[in-house]
Amino acid sequence: MRQRIAIYGGTFDPIHNGHWQVAKAIMNCFAMDRLLFVPAFVPPHKRGQQISSPFHRLAMLAVATMNEAQMFVSPVEVEAPERPYTVQTLDRLKAGLGNAQLFFVMGADSFRDVTTWREHQRLLSEYDVIVATRPGYQFGDQGETPIAAHLSPELQTKLVDLSGGQLPSEEDFASPRIYLTDYVEVDVSATDVREIAQQGKSIVNWVPPAVAAYIEKYKLYQKP
Ligand code: ATP
Repeated sequence: MRQRIAIYGGTFDPIHNGHWQVAKAIMNCFAMDRLLFVPAFVPPHKRGQQISSPFHRLAMLAVATMNEAQMFVSPVEVEAPERPYTVQTLDRLKAGLGNAQLFFVMGADSFRDVTTWREHQRLLSEYDVIVATRPGYQFGDQGETPIAAHLSPELQTKLVDLSGGQLPSEEDFASPRIYLTDYVEVDVSATDVREIAQQGKSIVNWVPPAVAAYIEKYKLYQKP
């Protein structure tokens, strides 16, 4: 059987319990063989004062996943700042991972913007995508705009609505799909965590324990 590998991209400044619980749930529900966190490079001119160096962000992912045998951090974007687009990252990972089936994981807020991404049609047709719900982003019950309304009719045929905690079926895995999932809903953002840390308050309830210790040790997010 082909290996299933989840690719979870983001800024991760820092990784928080929302990312963590989404990652765990997707590992379990999709019976993934591996999950790779891929921190984005983020060029210095876009960082403002807010975004930590890629090395701190990568280190926090490394300490968070230290005791998880199937979770890894990939430096693929940090090492190639000249190729920042997700579709390029997936192409490079695929080339190195042989016959594996790659599932790109994104939150519902990112999915709303996906049509502005480089080669989004190819990304969504050649790769599996798993969309994780996030508080404030419903999948579209009566009266709401459905979350995938911005996709072309062709891409819409790839949608698999797993809301209500449903699991994917083996038949779904035969060709690339766009899965809508709501396995967990965790109301936290990295912006919240940075603000809490900046106020000198404890962040232990919002990030994995090793990440809280790292932030404290290196005094991230504190006013200079
Ligand atoms: P920031 O507050 O700095 O914008 P963030 O919390 O949105 O950060 P990112 O690192 O930008 O975190 O997110 C990486 C990916 O994880 C994105 O696809 C985002 O949609 C998703 N994500 C972030 N937080 C959650 C959450 N609480 N639940 C589900 N998905 C999330």
